[in-house]
Amino acid sequence: MVQFASRMDLLKGSEIRELLKLTARPDIISFAGGMPAPELFPVEQMMEASVAVLKENGRAALQYSTTEGFPRLREQIAERMLAKNNIHTDADHILITSGSQEGLDFSARVFLNPGDVVLLESPSYLGAVNAFKACEPKFVEVPTDDGGMIMEELEKILATTERVKMIYVIPDFQNPTGRTWDLERRHKFMDIVNKYEIPVVEDNPYGELRFEGEFLPALKSLDTKGLVIYLGTFSKILAPGYRLGWVCADDEILAKYNFMKQAASLQASTIGQMETSKWIDMFDLDKHVATIRECYRKRRAVMLETLAKELPEPCTFTRPEGGLFAWVVLPEYMDAKELQMKCLEKKVAFVPGGSFFPNGGHENTLRLNYSCMPEDKIIEGITALCQTIRENLH
Ligand code: PMP
Repeated sequence: MVQFASRMDLLKGSEIRELLKLTARPDIISFAGGMPAPELFPVEQMMEASVAVLKENGRAALQYSTTEGFPRLREQIAERMLAKNNIHTDADHILITSGSQEGLDFSARVFLNPGDVVLLESPSYLGAVNAFKACEPKFVEVPTDDGGMIMEELEKILATTERVKMIYVIPDFQNPTGRTWDLERRHKFMDIVNKYEIPVVEDNPYGELRFEGEFLPALKSLDTKGLVIYLGTFSKILAPGYRLGWVCADDEILAKYNFMKQAASLQASTIGQMETSKWIDMFDLDKHVATIRECYRKRRAVMLETLAKELPEPCTFTRPEGGLFAWVVLPEYMDAKELQMKCLEKKVAFVPGGSFFPNGGHENTLRLNYSCMPEDKIIEGITALCQTIRENLH
């Protein structure tokens, strides 16, 4: 028998990935994934960008390149972070990663020894929890309400918990709840973090996908002590297939991430970075993001309208102002996994919410994605889901 490292006892394949295999069948109305709408990918334009890169600079595109990433792409990212997030930075403070997922993996490896504590929103992104688990931390979940993480709870936990080495947050259109932190909380959070001087990983894949409501500054833009490590990605604003994300942090911290990148994979794909950069120079990313926003805004509206009409009391749902997800809370006696089995018989899928809580519980919750289904299917699927919930009320 081969002997595995103890950390392997903690790692399981994500339940969502297993579920997605099941829900990939074309006859299933799936609210389970978190994928962008593929019909919006700019395929023809990408072909043009790709041909241009290979024609103009083919040998460099197929060669190894620097760990930090393609310089022009890092400049474009810095410009965009200023324009969209009010973050003043430059190319030297950006490291290109293989999606923001790799930034999550590096975050754990940079900051966590076994037994150290990570604070995170309750619930939080399952992919982050799984990435962090390889470093064998303890997860302490900070309670949340409709406005995001509750700052009084965060303060209480920080005052009474030892070995807190990292705080992981998704302040904009959170996965899985769709919730966004208001401005007051963002300021309060930075005050608390500055007091305790704990590094914060701000994960922001959805920030640009705001459909309504006012712009809110990224935590990184409020960071005066260099404590915030900002993770960005092209996955939701362009295409996840390139696997391109970035880490933006101050020098000392970014250098550690850079070592991690060298050790893990030397660099992100040269040609992928060059094609993405070329596409941004040749076409209009703002216009493209506006198209995505418009599509998801309509799909979200249809989902929320149908939920408002069909979801029985005492169930509740969130009303995200952007992003990809809404979150449903069922009566406590109801188990979303059992509900999922019943819904699959009706060819409707979603993700049971329990897996988003690293310490378990909350089986009466579920996550709904609205980016991937046409409007008529959303109405049909949500109606069937609500009907099944109604049949199972006590
Ligand atoms: N963070 C969050 C909150 C996510 O929802 C996702 C993807 N669903 C990721 C990170 C990873 O995205 P990627 O690696 O494609 O950038």
